[in-house]
Amino acid sequence: MQRERLYLFDTTLRDGAQTNGVDFTLADKLAIARMLDELGVDYVEAGYPGANPIDTAFFAERRPLKGKITAFGMTRRPGRSASNDPGLAALLAAEADAICFVAKSWDYHVRVALETSEEENLASIRDSVAAAKAKGREVLLDCEHFFDGYKANPDYALACAEAAYDAGARWVVLCDTNGGTLPHEVETIVGEVCRHIPGDHTGIHAHNDTEQAVANSFAAVRAGARQIQGTLNGLGERCGNANLISIIPTLKLKREYAERFEIGVSDAALGHIARVSRALDDLLNRAADRHAPYVGESAFATKAGIHASAIMKEPATYEHVAPERVGNKRKLLVSDQSGRSNLLAELERIGFAIDKDDPRLSRLLDAVKEREAQGYAYESADASFELLARRLLGKVPCYFEVEKFDVNVEQRINAKGERVSVSLAVVKVKVGDDALISAAEGNGPVNALDLALRKDLGKYQSYIAGLELTDYRVRILNGGTQAVTRVLIESADEEGDRWTTVGVSANIIDASFQALMDSIVYKLVKAGAPA
Ligand SMILES: [Zn+2]
Repeated sequence: MQRERLYLFDTTLRDGAQTNGVDFTLADKLAIARMLDELGVDYVEAGYPGANPIDTAFFAERRPLKGKITAFGMTRRPGRSASNDPGLAALLAAEADAICFVAKSWDYHVRVALETSEEENLASIRDSVAAAKAKGREVLLDCEHFFDGYKANPDYALACAEAAYDAGARWVVLCDTNGGTLPHEVETIVGEVCRHIPGDHTGIHAHNDTEQAVANSFAAVRAGARQIQGTLNGLGERCGNANLISIIPTLKLKREYAERFEIGVSDAALGHIARVSRALDDLLNRAADRHAPYVGESAFATKAGIHASAIMKEPATYEHVAPERVGNKRKLLVSDQSGRSNLLAELERIGFAIDKDDPRLSRLLDAVKEREAQGYAYESADASFELLARRLLGKVPCYFEVEKFDVNVEQRINAKGERVSVSLAVVKVKVGDDALISAAEGNGPVNALDLALRKDLGKYQSYIAGLELTDYRVRILNGGTQAVTRVLIESADEEGDRWTTVGVSANIIDASFQALMDSIVYKLVKAGAPA
């Protein structure tokens, strides 16, 4: 059966760059553009040449990508000719395959924001599209506020879209700029537009203000649109844009879409999509959303014992797709609610063959329950669970011993007259017969302790060289004077593996120390370091 081509347009580097707290450097932009290209998106919208130095630099030279590099900018200003508009000139000069113009399509905005006539706005669209076509660029037109505009004045909104299409735009993109339109409205309106403009020239650009940007994108496709715009991890201002990391697996794995449409993302690339999602979070230096559909750490996690035994027999019983298809993995949570079947399954996954009647199994279950009652959270800390299991089954070597540590926090006024805190940690470690002493300064006591601990582990140093802490979370349990602190530390290594460890104590430094130690020991076990 002949499948129809559906196009993916990524705007992580343009709309996604509007996110609060996101500031891409040129190197970031190039790295993300390469990630998008490996994934197989058709268009990479990289920025707004002329608007800021980084975007201007991006478009100053030809960037070798398979996808079409797209420059974004405004149509010519009202009252100017296309040849006499510096903004438009910068856009036309950009080294890009395609140009995406943004134009008003809501009469109210034309009057109030643009302060021009409806006819002049249409002329600006026609002239700008024609100018970009004349420069040999593929042209897209983002119709800003299209859905609100259509509800207020359908004839005018449609006239804007048709002006672009008639002037030769390859794509007319319907934007839900305020993000408030609902899926049934999108489906109806896109259906009406596609009676005037062919669906294979119509795109959807949805924002997530009602948590329905992904649903709105699919509603538009059902109504005829054949281009979806979105961002990695749904990055974007306010509540974000449509999340391509959720859209792509649905297009590839759900029958309704997979049988009808072909996209540029291969099965092999889909198998790396979880990694792409995490790589973006790493680059932004933020923790990954563990509940993200398809790619989150918890997306295929199961807690209740009865589900776990069924999953072991037949994964499809509780999984809507196979986790491996999207580069994720199944996870059976071990917690005080879990039964023996979870525990057995989890032990099997980490490589322990143990009989279900083995008395050690009950001991491990009791230990998990007892420690969880103290505040440990093994369902969040897979690596600490594995170490606990290995220790109870007698299989963790004693690589090194921390004889003592000392952490010191000093607050003082520096030479510039600013109040600063500096932390210093000193750690005394015994590795075999060697006693090693390391000291390190950090921006806080835990940071200093971590740096000192990992500074010199003697013969094990090479095994932990690629170890990195990627997230640190603290939670106070119980509250009041009896408060206990739980620390969860997420680590990663040079192979791209990630694991989480836990520590619990009335003292935050002790809790952090336990979690740091578990992380290091886990890495040594994983790397097969000799005892
Ligand atoms: Zn947008």
